[in-house]
Amino acid sequence: MASTQSFWPVYHCDDDFWVCMSCLGEVFYQKVPMPDCPSCHGVSTYEGFTLDAVRDWGTEELIAKAVAAQQAAAAQPTVESAAPVETTD
Ligand SMILES: [Zn+2]
Repeated sequence: MASTQSFWPVYHCDDDFWVCMSCLGEVFYQKVPMPDCPSCHGVSTYEGFTLDAVRDWGTEELIAKAVAAQQAAAAQPTVESAAPVETTD
């Protein structure tokens, strides 16, 4: 594969996990693939969910992908000038 997958960054209030509702096999954290789903090539098939929601109805594979995507995002330096958001007690 010569081309790299591109993404739209999406920062929603609560729904950080974007799942393809067409194939239910792809999930991304705070971003959606463009121009279409890399698995089923559906366009505008992604909907946002919380991790709890994904855990509620997702397959083990999908949940594992969601967790891995979040960990990967957390491990990388934030893109552009986005400031890290930390909650305080
Ligand atoms: Zn898909």
